[in-house]
Amino acid sequence: MKSKKAPFFLAALLGLAASLPMAAHAETKVVMLGTGTPVPDSDRAGASVAVVHDGEAYVFDMGAGANKRAIQAAQRLGIEPLYPTHIKYLFFTHLHSDHILDYPELLGTYWWRRADQLNVFGPVGTQAMSEGVYTMLADDTETRLKDKSPVTNRNAHRAIVQEFDAPGVVFEDNGVRVEAFPVTHGDWDKAYGYKVTTPDKTIVISGDTSLNDEVRKQAKGADILVHEAISHTGWEKLSSDWQAYHQYAHTLTNELADLANDAQPQLLVLYHVLHYSAPVTSVLDEVKARYDGNVVLADDLDVFE
Ligand SMILES: [Zn+2]
Ligand SMILES: [Zn+2]
Repeated sequence: MKSKKAPFFLAALLGLAASLPMAAHAETKVVMLGTGTPVPDSDRAGASVAVVHDGEAYVFDMGAGANKRAIQAAQRLGIEPLYPTHIKYLFFTHLHSDHILDYPELLGTYWWRRADQLNVFGPVGTQAMSEGVYTMLADDTETRLKDKSPVTNRNAHRAIVQEFDAPGVVFEDNGVRVEAFPVTHGDWDKAYGYKVTTPDKTIVISGDTSLNDEVRKQAKGADILVHEAISHTGWEKLSSDWQAYHQYAHTLTNELADLANDAQPQLLVLYHVLHYSAPVTSVLDEVKARYDGNVVLADDLDVFE
């Protein structure tokens, strides 16, 4: 596990942790559950980022394989709030397949032992998608509810869905505020990034977006900016129609470096990295060539705090 300490946590470095017994507990963690893209990759699950604060997990997107990563985060890294039945809050940036395919997996995993229903927040379309998941799992649900085995919460096979069709604060509780802001992602007219504010951190998640001024604005002074990227070297070698699509839908490394120079986040985390024929590390190298702030290329199960 790669764990990156943001430089502003001086208390622990100064040996003050002992006099601040709650600090370690309250510290917000960002756990990368999926750093991949639609391009099949044996090491990377589809897009998913978890913010863990005060014993609760807030998960952003659920790409293919992310539920398994959540189990690994709980069982290998000891991050209990990420055990699937403990996850209570899920937010979707947009409904592209690489951000949603493990939604049925999360909802269906051990639901009969789930105490609380999953709360799902997302753009218009999230409710219809959820109905599709219930249909897919209908025979399982019906049979388990008929079974003589006890079911912890008889509604837990269904999510509580809250759709939104405009930017703004979509969740505020437990000291955590989640704000959706619009991004520009190809032909999606309802794609969002998220700003998550906890008592000790501000985290901005780009979702999928082309170079976007709203992200630049939201990320100003953020502790952690989690941003997608496409390698300029890889992009250059694509056919002109694919080049045009990617400029319309994603952020090139040189563009992201310029954005980071303006926004100056404490830490820039690269995920959802498209690199095609270039090595994946080209993305990090290209950003670093134009930006000298803290920047890392995230792998699945990396933890930033
Ligand atoms: Zn997308
Ligand atoms: Zn995507």
